[in-house]
Amino acid sequence: MIAPANGFTRRHFLCTAALGAVSGAQLAWSADEKPALSPEGKHFNEPSLKLPIKNDADVIVCGAGPAGIAAAITAARAGARTRLFEVHGCLGGVWTAGLLTYIFDFDKPGLTRELVKKLDERDARRNRNPSRFTYEPEAMKLLIEEMCLEAGVKIQLHTRVAAAYRQGQRLTTIITESKSGREAWAAPVFIDATGDGDLGAQAGCAWETGQAKDCPCQPMTMNALTVVKDAKALGKFISFNGTDEFTGPGGHLTCVEAFKGELQRAGVGTSYGHPTIFHVRDNLVMLMLNHEYGIMAYDSAKISEATLRSRAEIHRVVKALRSLGGGWESLQVATTAEQIGVRDGRRIRGRYTVTKEDLIQGTKHPDAVCRATFGVDIHAESREKNTTETISHGGFKAKPYDIPLRALIAKDIDGLMMAGRCISGDFTAHASYRVTGNAVAMGEAAGVVAAMAAKSGRLPQAVEWREGAEQLAKLGQRI
Ligand SMILES: Cc1cc2nc3c(=O)[nH]c(=O)nc-3n(C[C@H](O)[C@H](O)[C@H](O)COP(=O)(O)OP(=O)(O)OC[C@H]3O[C@@H](n4cnc5c(N)ncnc54)[C@H](O)[C@@H]3O)c2cc1C
Repeated sequence: MIAPANGFTRRHFLCTAALGAVSGAQLAWSADEKPALSPEGKHFNEPSLKLPIKNDADVIVCGAGPAGIAAAITAARAGARTRLFEVHGCLGGVWTAGLLTYIFDFDKPGLTRELVKKLDERDARRNRNPSRFTYEPEAMKLLIEEMCLEAGVKIQLHTRVAAAYRQGQRLTTIITESKSGREAWAAPVFIDATGDGDLGAQAGCAWETGQAKDCPCQPMTMNALTVVKDAKALGKFISFNGTDEFTGPGGHLTCVEAFKGELQRAGVGTSYGHPTIFHVRDNLVMLMLNHEYGIMAYDSAKISEATLRSRAEIHRVVKALRSLGGGWESLQVATTAEQIGVRDGRRIRGRYTVTKEDLIQGTKHPDAVCRATFGVDIHAESREKNTTETISHGGFKAKPYDIPLRALIAKDIDGLMMAGRCISGDFTAHASYRVTGNAVAMGEAAGVVAAMAAKSGRLPQAVEWREGAEQLAKLGQRI
């Protein structure tokens, strides 16, 4: 046996493996175990594991943001045994773990309409414009958990999709990691709804991110829920028109400018050039005021630094505003987001790529699963740009355009679909279709097609959208 370097002995390694075996019964190394450290001590050869395969799902959805929950609910309603894996402790992605509170491009048929109705039944929606509104993140959390359970989705939280394996071109198995250790799951069809395209990348698909692989890309932002003494007293600083009596007059930018004046009076700056307050309900408001630049969605160390920096910025700004007294007197951070908001992740190559040209032309497709109407929002990719152009709209006016089913089906790998911000598109198109109304519509489409493919033994690309749309109509999801 070759002695490992760095004082990391074989005995130490076996000891660690034995400890691992306590928390996850499958963590027993195979008999032909190789030395763990390479002779020069530069690499660690992770021993292979023999994992039992769990094969109890027709459709596996990875990631439970707006796209993932829509995909899982729809697949389950269409009769597929459906599993949903989520790394956080709640469903909803940016809606909940990210504390978004504001929804765009939601005026669509199907699940979007159902969600609106159910949020209203719970009095959890404000600023009720048909396509954009604020909602309460806790109410959303509970609602989508109930909808998933009612549809029969098997939910596994606190579970990260960590690896993917293929037979030839066909994705057959994913590996998850959680407190239960590493687990292997097989299914005929998988949906990547991780936002960042983790599954597509693990499976070996080609992908792009930002404007280029190492950024420039859109900045990240951490949101925070805060409590004020009287939202009405701060009305002129609170953005988003709607009909809500608390929102300021003159529209979003007037409120932003007024709020910036208050920040100046408090002697504090923000890293986001359009600091915004959204009214959630009563004395609860959401603050969006930071930008973290040049962070790639798959760089954990940098994301961690950005998370700590942005949380500190939120507390610093809130403390400074509180010192102004008056309407700001009792301002308190109720909670900062568990997950910093990621705008740009991987875009997995599909059988069609939605492009800037599609937005300029307003391209329509016979296999359209969603009509996107939101314009282009490109947040500054650097601190310098933030001072001159915080948000660019791409230099053109986007026309309503279609997202075809083909953009939701992986090109390189069979048995894999995408939904949400990781579908196939270019940088500019992504800056428009990524908003959550489109994510839900894409999730619905991926869910129904995945279910039909799995149940009929076909690949997703062999299911015609007409069939998917008919099935959605039967489910009452296309009205
Ligand atoms: C700061 C910010 C502001 C925005 N403002 C708006 C707005 O006002 N209105 C609007 O509609 N949209 C807005 N957007 C855009 C929109 O929120 C996103 O594009 C949207 O989240 C897309 O939904 P999704 O389901 O694709 O991704 P996400 O919401 O990111 O969901 C992905 C889910 O997958 C999980 N996940 C990731 N990797 C793994 C893994 N390996 N294993 C298991 N689970 C995993 C994540 O935890 C998450 O729950 C904003 C985005 C940001 C970041």
